[in-house]
Amino acid sequence: MTQSSDFSLNRRSLLKGGLVLGAASMLGGTLLGCAGRTSKAPIAPRTVGAYPFTVGDIQGFVLSDGTVRLEPATPTIVTNAPDKEVKTLLEQSFLPTDYVDAPINTVLFRVGKRNVLIDVGYGPGGSPKGGLQTEALASLGLEPKDIDTIFITHAHPDHLHGFSDANGLPRFPKAELVISETEYNFWSNPDNDIAKVQGLFDAARKNFAAAGDRLRTVKGGGEIVPGLVAEAAHGHTPGHSAVRVTSGTDDLLVTADTANHPILFLRHPEWVFGYDFNPTQAVETRKKRLDQLATDKTRILAYHFPFPGIGRIKPLWSGAYEFLSEPWSPV
Ligand SMILES: [Zn+2]
Repeated sequence: MTQSSDFSLNRRSLLKGGLVLGAASMLGGTLLGCAGRTSKAPIAPRTVGAYPFTVGDIQGFVLSDGTVRLEPATPTIVTNAPDKEVKTLLEQSFLPTDYVDAPINTVLFRVGKRNVLIDVGYGPGGSPKGGLQTEALASLGLEPKDIDTIFITHAHPDHLHGFSDANGLPRFPKAELVISETEYNFWSNPDNDIAKVQGLFDAARKNFAAAGDRLRTVKGGGEIVPGLVAEAAHGHTPGHSAVRVTSGTDDLLVTADTANHPILFLRHPEWVFGYDFNPTQAVETRKKRLDQLATDKTRILAYHFPFPGIGRIKPLWSGAYEFLSEPWSPV
């Protein structure tokens, strides 16, 4: 018998005996009263995610934009493995099997006097459980007008769409928008349009237009600002990029969407993510990068891993890895 049916049974017995009111007041007066909650307003279920860390002299803050729900879990997430195998791995990892809630970890770096964002999330109201980056920024005493540079790892909605508002105006009035040249050229060229996802092309162009003459492209290996370099990680989208952050002897790699799930695509780098533009290239990039990260023991920040997404990749067995989150202290 489950706990809930035990409870129903007990409740029925109490009702029969006319004791439910007495039991309720006992709960209110004793248990809840002890916690001191009865006289206070309900606790808001939403918190602002701003996680401080450093890379050498560079200050960083992971800013949660919330989460995005991908459903059904299969075959939306993994397209080249049997549903049963994917669901079993999710279940063994204590995760729901009918959907995946992917965290959205945008990041602010303070480089010298510059405030630099990597990706901007959905933007306020842009997604049912996303669009919270501005609130996270406000918790640090910053507003969109305080941002100087924004690097977009790729032009998908959960990374780019927060750049402009519903009227197509830039939400970050002083910021330059930096993006890989390959990524910009792909989404800008009407010859590449795909009817099934035309909305993505239209939205990318709307955001590029909002940047106006403050849009700058970089090639792989190109500098975003001193200390931050774009690295080609193509496949998820044609110009998908990671960001290498270096200060003194310290470094960190912002891996963006190289692996979109901390269990599925680390245990099976050969699995294809449903939103990978070029599956063969994406798998090749993922395998190569995971091997390199595990060998070099590189500290990473992953966009869709559990907040804040900072940690390291450890080999499990041949061709399989796990993500180890780094510990954090508030002081
Ligand atoms: Zn993403």
